[in-house]
Order: sequence, then structure tokens, then C-alpha cells
Amino acid sequence: MFNDPSSIEEAKEMLNSVSPSFCMAKWMNTTIHLHLGRTHSCHLPPTHKIPLKEVKKNVNALHNTQEKMKQRKMMLEGKRPKGCSACWDIEDLPGTHYSDRHYRGQDCWTKPFFDEVSTSSWDTPINPSYLEVSFSAGCNFKCAYCSPTFSSAWQKEVEKFGGYPQSGAVKHHSPLWLKTAGLMPLKDEDNPYVEAFWKWWPDLKKDLMFFRITGGEPLLSQDTFKAFDMIDADPMEELEFSINSNLGIPQVHFDRFIKKTKSLLDHKKVRHFILHTSVDTWGEQAEYIRNGLNFEQYQRYVETYLLEVPNGSLAFMCTFNALSIDNFKPLLEWIISLRRRFHQKGRDIYLDTPHLKYPNFMAVQILPECYQKKMRELITWAKERQDPLYGIKPAEVLKLERILKWMEEVNTWDKNQLKQLKTERKNFSLFFREHDKRRGTNFKKLFPDLKSLY
Ligand code: SF4
Repeated sequence: MFNDPSSIEEAKEMLNSVSPSFCMAKWMNTTIHLHLGRTHSCHLPPTHKIPLKEVKKNVNALHNTQEKMKQRKMMLEGKRPKGCSACWDIEDLPGTHYSDRHYRGQDCWTKPFFDEVSTSSWDTPINPSYLEVSFSAGCNFKCAYCSPTFSSAWQKEVEKFGGYPQSGAVKHHSPLWLKTAGLMPLKDEDNPYVEAFWKWWPDLKKDLMFFRITGGEPLLSQDTFKAFDMIDADPMEELEFSINSNLGIPQVHFDRFIKKTKSLLDHKKVRHFILHTSVDTWGEQAEYIRNGLNFEQYQRYVETYLLEVPNGSLAFMCTFNALSIDNFKPLLEWIISLRRRFHQKGRDIYLDTPHLKYPNFMAVQILPECYQKKMRELITWAKERQDPLYGIKPAEVLKLERILKWMEEVNTWDKNQLKQLKTERKNFSLFFREHDKRRGTNFKKLFPDLKSLY
């Protein structure tokens, strides 16, 4: 995620020497949603079911499912798995653009395994070096682009009011549809996947370089604190340990988290720690996108963490969506000020801006053309503040440029694509009107330039 652009070209050549669709992330990276019994590698393609019968034979099937091994086979043969379209879309753009496949090829958790992976057979199981895991969907937020699949608060809402109206027959987040598709969370009690995970842990931990806990809201899950205790009892000195958090948790959970993180770092039981926290724009607009967020508390928790855990890093995850652009500058200004105030050797404050693709009606491509101008201005502004240490980093500007390029694709769309765009804009309006009705929010007040879309 946080790369030096100069070595990406080298990684691209290395990967393409195996095949033009070969990607190390399919082997070495995994996200396992234990709360659903589903997995994907990397986090961009859709998840697929982990058959319990495969897990019963071998707990490493939590990662090495038959389905994933088929995708690996395609990649070794130069075929493109459909689920990886986020990369193929970028790679098919005119000119030179780097996809996540290229970025992942230069990561320190893939490079050492290149020979082993590229020469082994597609059906050989492997332990991941980068693992992301969710134990529970317990969450107190209902972010607009999230779903009942990952948030118990969302789940409660749709169980009470049903799915959100859309232009088609199927409602957005219809509980019945989600249940049928296997996308409703399993109950936290007696989850066989969580049980299998802790059985796998003694073997899995040997190869692990990066371990990241996601959710739900991980700091509301007892299994997260169990992970802290397991590492405390049996240190992993080479591990980079990370937690994703909405930082909207009660003070008592936050204090417990600070205490345990400080202890792991002070006693060198892990190599490094990163708190990944999500925010997609600034202030009230950010609160609108991430329903449940208290922005003032959020700022306080961020700054407390940076002060109390001086050797821990922080990563802002901005899921760049249609509502991000209008108030993005103040967020960048705050990040620059944090980089200046809390600079410390051995720690970093990162910023990642993956562009949102789903739900389609919230993607930046649905925005009116004038937003391309706003995006260009934002990029110029960011470039003026470029500085590898205290300002906006060159790789971060590159990512914003990549988003603009993607937005501009709309300018060349054909009749059918424009028809689809019209549908997504209608869905945008239907969703946020219902959102305002159910949640007592006021879209038009916060996003006046998007009134026409609403
Ligand atoms: S989406 Fe891209 S980075 Fe992820 S596994 Fe597929 S090709 Fe690799």
C-alpha cells in the first residue's frame, strides 16, 4: 500500500515474466471473514464461501480453498480471473498505469516468496504472509457504502425497515437476498470458523509477517483482545500487527486498546504496530458518510493514540467515494499537521485512498462533470504540498491522479454505458432520500453542490 513508485516498474516486469495476469497476492495475501465463513485474495475480488468440509480436513483451507486454487491456476496460465477486474480496469487504460497487482508485486511480504510461488503447482497449499481476519460483524456504525454483512447496526436496521429502494426489483441490502446469498453474518457464539482459526494459529503464526484484524469493529470483539494476549504470551518479534478501527468506540475499550498496544511495543513483542482508521472526508460530511461517527471524538482518539503510543504508526483509510471530494482538503490539511506535530523516528502516518467501486451509485464516476474540475484542483493543491516527510507524499498524489483518470473515462462512454450511468444516478437519489428519512439526516444541507443528483 505504501510504496516507492520507482520500483513498481521492476515488480511489473518480474510478475509478467511468469504471466501477464500473475499476482503474488493470490497466494501470500488473504482476508478471511470468519464471521461469514468467506475469504478472498486479495481484498478486491468478491469473497467466496469457505466450505466447512474443506476446513474439517485441513484448517489451512480457511485460506487455500479449492475455489482460490482455481483462480491461481488461471493466473499461472495467463488467464484473468473475473473477480480481479479492479486491476484489469486500470491495466487496460491507455498509457502507463499501475494496478494493485503491480503494487503488491513490490511488497516485502511477496518478494521473498516469488520463486517458491512461481515454481510451485497451483494446487499446493501455502500459509499467507499477510493475513487480514474478521472475528465478528459487531459494529456500532452504518457507513453508507457498508452493509449488514459487515455491521450488526446495519443488520438491525434492515431487519426493521427492509432493504433500500433501487431502480430494479431487488432492494439494496434486502435481508432476504443477503441471507440467500450467504452474506448475513453467522452468530458470534459457536462460530466453527473462529474455532478453526485458533486451531490453525500455532502453525499460521510461524510464516506470518503482517497480521491485521478487521471487522465489524474489532475493538468491540473479545477475539481481538485474545489475539493481543496470545502475542503477549508468545511474542512475534518480526510481526507487523495492525488493527482496523472506526474509532467510535466507548472510552473503556479505547483505554484497554492503548494499554495493550503500548505493552506489546514497549516489550518488543511485535516488530511494529499500525492502527488503520477509516475516514473519507472531513467533519460533518465525514459523519454523514460514516453514520455513527462523532468527528470530534474521532480527532481526540487519533491524537491521543499518536501521543500515548509514540512508536506506533497510523494509517488513514479513505475509501474515496462520490461524497469525498467536496471537503477533502481540510482532511489533507489535518493529516499534514499531524505529520508535523507527531513526527517520530520509526513511526509513520500513512494515507491510502482506494477508490470505491461498490455500491456503484456511490462511485466517483457517477458525479457531474464539474467534479472532474474539482478533482483536478484538489490534485494541484496536493502537489503544491508535496513533501516526502511532512507533506503529501508523491505516491499519494499518484493515487489521486489515478482516481481522476478513472472519473474521466466517463467522458468517452458509449450509449449503453451512459444509460447505466443514468440508472446509477437514480439509485444514488433513491438511496440517500431513504437514508435521510430513516436516519434523520440532511443530505442537501451538507452537499449543496450535489442537490441536482439528489
Ligand atoms: S485484485 Fe489485483 S491485486 Fe488483488 S488479487 Fe486480483 S490481480 Fe491481485
